[in-house]
Order: sequence, then C-alpha cells, then structure tokens
Amino acid sequence: MARITADGTAPQAERAQRTVHVGGEWRAASSGATREIVDPADARPFAVVAEGDEQDADLAVAAARRAFDEGPWPHTPVAERAALLRRVAALLTRDRERIGLLESRDAGKTVEEGRVDVDCVADAFRYFADLIAAEAPGRVVDAGTPDIHSVVVHEPVGVCALITPWNYPLLQASWKVAPALAAGNTFVLKPSEITPLTTVALIGLLVEAGLPAGVAGLVTGPGHTVGARLAEHPGVDLVSFTGGLTSGVKVARAAADTVKKVALELGGKNPNVVFADACATDEGFDTAVDQALNAAFLHSGQVCSAGSRLIVEEPLRERFVAELARRAARIRLGRGTEDGVECGPLVSAAQRARTEEYVASALAEGALSRCGGRRPEPSAVRPAEGYFYEPTVLDHCHREMRVVREEVFGPVLTVETFRTEDEAVALANDTEYGLAGAVWTADAGRARRVAGRLRHGTVWINDFHPYLPQAEWGGFGKSGTGRELGPAGLAEYRESKHVYQNLAPKPVRWFTG
Ligand code: NAD
Repeated sequence: MARITADGTAPQAERAQRTVHVGGEWRAASSGATREIVDPADARPFAVVAEGDEQDADLAVAAARRAFDEGPWPHTPVAERAALLRRVAALLTRDRERIGLLESRDAGKTVEEGRVDVDCVADAFRYFADLIAAEAPGRVVDAGTPDIHSVVVHEPVGVCALITPWNYPLLQASWKVAPALAAGNTFVLKPSEITPLTTVALIGLLVEAGLPAGVAGLVTGPGHTVGARLAEHPGVDLVSFTGGLTSGVKVARAAADTVKKVALELGGKNPNVVFADACATDEGFDTAVDQALNAAFLHSGQVCSAGSRLIVEEPLRERFVAELARRAARIRLGRGTEDGVECGPLVSAAQRARTEEYVASALAEGALSRCGGRRPEPSAVRPAEGYFYEPTVLDHCHREMRVVREEVFGPVLTVETFRTEDEAVALANDTEYGLAGAVWTADAGRARRVAGRLRHGTVWINDFHPYLPQAEWGGFGKSGTGRELGPAGLAEYRESKHVYQNLAPKPVRWFTG
C-alpha cells in the first residue's frame, strides 16, 4: 500500500499513527488502535492515523485545562497573539500545494478546490488577527457619576472542544481554531474520523508557528467516543460543533448537564429562487444556469450551503431545467488529482448509498429524473471502486417528498416552481433549516423585498456560495445556534466581564443596626 503520513511529509507509517496531540507531544492512541484513511476516488487506504477514544479525550482535556489555568496563552498580549495567527497564515500559504493535495485525496475534492480551501483558511487566520489587533481592550461604561469607573472587558471562555465534519475539514477547523486562539482560549480539536489529515497538518503548523505547548490539543477518533466525551466533559467550558442535525442534538444534550456554552453549525436545505426576469437576456440566463449548477454540484453537493432546491418561476421552468440538466450531464467526474476533472467522488460508500436511497425514494414519490440518478461508467480518471455518482436533477418535486425536506448531502438537485413572489418566499422558507438561500432577479426592489423575507442566515442576491470572513456565518432554525466568522464569530469564544470600581467608597446604610 502506498502510504503518506498524516501531515503529508515523512513516509513512516509509525510516525503517521501518532496523530493525537496532547500537552505539546504527538502520541499514538492510548489503546494503540489505528484507522486507515481511504481515498474515496479508489476506495484504497493511503494513510494511517491513531484511533483515539475517551481516554485520549480525557488526557487532552487535562492538558488543555492546565495550559489554560496555568499557562501563558490567555494572558499573552493581543499583539503577540495576532502575530502568531499571521505566522500560521503565512505557513499555510507556504504549504498550499501540500495541504491542498492532502485535502483533495482525503475529502475527494479537486486539487484546485483544496488549494482554494487553504487560501480561505489563511484568510480566516489573517482576519481574526486583524480583528483583535484593531480592538479597544475594553468598553468604558458611563455609570452616571465620576466616582465610579466601570469597564466591560473580554476574557477567554476557557477550554474549548472543537468538533468538525468531513466536507470542509480544514476550513471548518480553522473557523473555530482561529477565533478560539485569537480570544486566548486553549482547545481540543476532534476532526471527522474519515478526513483527519489536514487537521493534523494544521496542528503541525500551529506548533511550528510557536504556539505554547498544551494550548492546541488534537484527538483523532470517532464521534460516539471522542466527540461524545468532549461534549460531556466537565473540564470543557465550550463546545463548538459543525456537523449533521442528529449529532448536533446529541452534542447539545451531552453538554447540558455541565451548562457549557454550545455553538452548533448544522445542515441546510437551501433554496435557490430564480425569477424569470433574471433570465430575460441570454447573458442573464447563462449566468443563472451556470450558478445554479455551481450551487448544487460543487464538491458533489457535499456543502452545507449547497443550493439543493431550485425554485424557479413556472414559465421559465422548461427552458431553465433543460439547459441545467444538459450542463449537469457534462460535468467531468473523476479523481480530484486528475487534470480536467471538475467534480470528485462522494466521500464514502455510506454517503453514496444515502444519496441513492434519496433518489430512489423521490422517484417512487413521483419525481422525474432529468439527468443522472446513477453511478457513472468507470474510466481512465474514474476507478470502478471510487464512490462516484452522477449529478442528478429531479423535476416535479414537492414538499411532501423526503428529498425536498431532508438534507441529502450529495449531487441531487430538486426542482419546484412558483407563480407569484409570495409563493416563491413561502416555498423558500418552507424548511426546518435556515442556513442559506439565494434570489435571482433583475428587479432591484424585488431582490431586496425577497431577501428581507427569507429566513436564512445568509442570503445571496444574484450570486451563490461566496462568504466573507468579515461577515457572520450560521443558521436560523435547525441549521444551528451561534455564528462563525465576523465579530460574532470571535464573541462566541469570549466571556464579558464587568469591572466596576468605586473611587470614593462610603457606607450605604441599607442596614442601620
Ligand atoms: P456528523 O454529524 O456525522 O459528524 C460531524 C462531527 O461530529 C464528526 O467529527 C463526528 O465524528 C462527530 N460526532 C458524531 N457523533 C457525535 C456525537 N454523538 N458526539 C460528538 N461528536 C459526534 O456530520 P458529517 O457527516 O461529518 O458532516 C456533514 C454535516 O455537516 C452536514 O449535515 C452538513 O450540512 C454539516 N455542515 C454544516 C456546516 C455549517 O457551517 N453549518 C458546515 C459544514 C458541514
């Protein structure tokens, strides 16, 4: 078996298995267990990591606790913390090719997507460095008398458990790690057990950048053991979780007994609303179709904000869906490291089976397949063993269908239609989620009206997918609680403390005896 190490450097299998990072040291799992990491393009293992368990989680929390309670990081001057984050950004840029490639092989995305992820991660580190560097150290409150000096300051929350999914492993980790460090916390990070490799690499870069030992902990291992233990652990002050709804609910329950702070970034069932006026010109039509394709099929639809529900104005339906299906059928599927490939495989056999099940249920409920709906033929760039699935457009869908209500997390786009603006808004909001949505229209007034009525954490007007590190990201409804990125993404990792100083203390004489 061709092996590369978990951080993509030294080709020594035994070093690769030391992917638990505790108190500044790389270790094997306490039990000695390991897990093979599989390339989803050919189903073959290509790396080995430690399979940690509850014992490793306990050790990592104890080390992070010590680093928080006794170590220098929470009290390190802001300028030094910002400088460290900037060094991490520079190291990411230095290692862009290596880490981009690693992400491509691990998560099944194209190498170019992997590279873009690394750029976005570096941006996030820079953003949080700039944010803390520009802040006032506290907010002076006017107490209404010169005898009182009153100030509200920020302090780190403490030990943070950071639990991340497999679709954007490095990106999701960085949206937590960068603000947690910026605010002065220590943390234990648990990546998805199926895509841990770039997270291991990230911890390596934090060490190289000079982060004090114990501040960053890492336990590779499963959710039901390591993740569950971190969520319930009395030594953890905050848990920030990105993943599916079912696991998110378990995390919130497990965290409740110890009254931890909880932030949840969960799934989405995101509407892409297209008004006919957006397609009145050939250019407008081409752009809206192109972006609907991108919304639904980027990373094979394994994107929390994927535009998996096309909601198109009825008179435009046939023309729009026919062109969309024509282009979807031409998407070049293959191993993400091959030239010319536009879309990789699904991340696992289980994820493809889940996708197949949703498509079968939709067809049984009356949906009409306009393209895809099956595994592609193997080819020179597409091994037969890989978890590939063709981009699928399902027409004539309605809300009673599971495929319309539930998150598939695969390359499946459903089509619904509307006749009025009110109907478009009602359909777009008819989901228990509320992560993201888009509206396409040439009418500026309508664009603002519809955007204002959509109950989603991000709304794009005449665009789909871009996000900015300066702008909050998160969901309404069952898409989660809390926000990542932006000032609120930093505030998640802070406690506010009001320090009230009486400059002229006197007895209050409330009690007279
Ligand atoms: P998942 O819920 O299966 O796993 C996410 C993480 O939680 C993994 O590290 C897993 O090991 C861990 N985990 C699982 N059970 C746990 C438990 N009981 N206690 C603690 N940890 C546990 O999700 P996934 O399949 O890895 O990722 C896909 C999901 O993530 C999708 O629903 C997607 O929408 C969501 N997601 C959301 C965002 C966002 O920003 N809102 C971003 C990316 C992905």
